[in-house]
Amino acid sequence: MTVAVLALQGAFSEHEQALKKLDVDCFEIRQNSDLNRNFDGLILPGGESTVMGKLLHELALYEPLKQKIQEGLPVFGTCAGLILLAKEVDSGLPHFATMNISVRRNAYGRQLGSFYTEADFKGLGQIPMTFIRAPYILNVSGNTEVLATVNEHIIAAKENSQLVTAFHPELSADLRIHEYFLNMIKGR
Ligand code: GLN
Repeated sequence: MTVAVLALQGAFSEHEQALKKLDVDCFEIRQNSDLNRNFDGLILPGGESTVMGKLLHELALYEPLKQKIQEGLPVFGTCAGLILLAKEVDSGLPHFATMNISVRRNAYGRQLGSFYTEADFKGLGQIPMTFIRAPYILNVSGNTEVLATVNEHIIAAKENSQLVTAFHPELSADLRIHEYFLNMIKGR
């Protein structure tokens, strides 16, 4: 199994380290020619969704990646990656717009936006969760399944082969969320 990590900006290397700990091959997508390689899943890291959205277009990555996601390529978006997948974004235009979620960016405020907690994740139990200027999901529709909530806000969800978390599992030593995504790939 090979997982590609979008490496334009943000916290991509931490995802690569998590995958390496799980003995999964991974490589970085930085330019259009990287798409010639075969991969079974894609991670969209945290960072700044507006910057990543702009770079995706400039580097001619937007259309081919959107098509792969629409065709069912398993994708895992964390934080800004969640925003990239959302069909509706409270501020600014949506990006890939492949997932039936509407999100509020910087939902916890810019100053108080970073915090750590532990909360229940469906099927996994208590999971450590680090939030950094995070969004949360205002609502889900279609067959999107809510996987976790914190303070009554939805912060993790799944729709078919798309998984999103508002927190950063790659910043914790707990690998269960990455394993969850790898199981989604295996289950295809
Ligand atoms: N605030 C960022 C955005 O709106 C997301 C923050 C993050 O990915 N840690 O894109």
